Amino acid sequence: VNGALLGCGLVGGSFALALGDRVSFAGYDRSPENAARARERGIVSRVAESAASAVKDAELVVIAVPVRSTAEICEAIAPALSKSALVMDVGSTKSEVLTQVKRWLPFPERFVAAHPIAGTEKSGPDAASPDLFRGRRCLLSPLPETDREKLKLARELWEAAGARVDEIDAAHHDHALAFVSHLPHVAAFALASAVGEAAAKDSWLEGLSGGGFVDATRIAGSDPRMWRDVLLSNRDGVLEAMRALDEELAELRRAIAAGDGEKLEQLISRAGDGRKRVLRA
Ligand code: NAP
Repeated sequence: VNGALLGCGLVGGSFALALGDRVSFAGYDRSPENAARARERGIVSRVAESAASAVKDAELVVIAVPVRSTAEICEAIAPALSKSALVMDVGSTKSEVLTQVKRWLPFPERFVAAHPIAGTEKSGPDAASPDLFRGRRCLLSPLPETDREKLKLARELWEAAGARVDEIDAAHHDHALAFVSHLPHVAAFALASAVGEAAAKDSWLEGLSGGGFVDATRIAGSDPRMWRDVLLSNRDGVLEAMRALDEELAELRRAIAAGDGEKLEQLISRAGDGRKRVLRA
């Protein structure tokens, strides 16, 4: 079948590669170099001049741009969409995306919101891999009006890409992801900046870090534009999660300031238990 890939970067590119010959994608990207590179890598079979021209004969449309660009993409493709096409996104937040979809798409019931819980701190078509979703979860957030056939097809496509598919309401999705994904990014950004500032004042810090800094800050190198959009499109959830982190930091600060070793041990073992609970498969 013909498809359209709008945004030919890490996630969209990986999905197209994972589907292989099942779908022949026309690619559109704001960055012509990324679209050309996606063509060279066989992610898309042709490059389209615009989002509207990419979707013209497409039965599957995949929107894989930073979440806050979803509205402009939906507006651009609305007049050119085939009446039977399945439209999906891959965005990291869902409530705001669904509001935009309802506003701009002529057939929101044929849209299926998808979020593959897989990614890396890298971006662009060169980072795309057919194995990115293998064994990982993909969350679908259908609307009450979502067409059941389209939902089934979306599930089959993500399963074909190697993912384990679950359904979750958009608001619940955003609240949960604020804690397990958005907060760790915010914490890594703050941590890397704080240590980076200290290193700017004392060059002895450069090259001195061990595994702790490396492990805790890998995601601090993530794409700024993508993360700006994720954090702003899930403001309430992210702020709630940040309040929880503030409280934990305050407890640690109090225990350290008071020289309370017993309390500190308790807080550190509670952290280990929390990590195990979250990582339970
Ligand atoms: P990416 O590698 O940067 O790919 C996005 C591509 O879309 C880039 O080529 C970008 O071009 C292009 N683009 C940006 N705005 C556009 C627009 N308005 N119209 C057309 N093309 C546009 O990013 P990604 O990591 O694949 O992220 C894509 C989506 O997946 C995001 O919504 C993100 O929230 C979601 N997601 C990401 C991860 C992750 O770990 N990275 C995981 C799950 C879901 P430029 O390079 O010029 O900006």
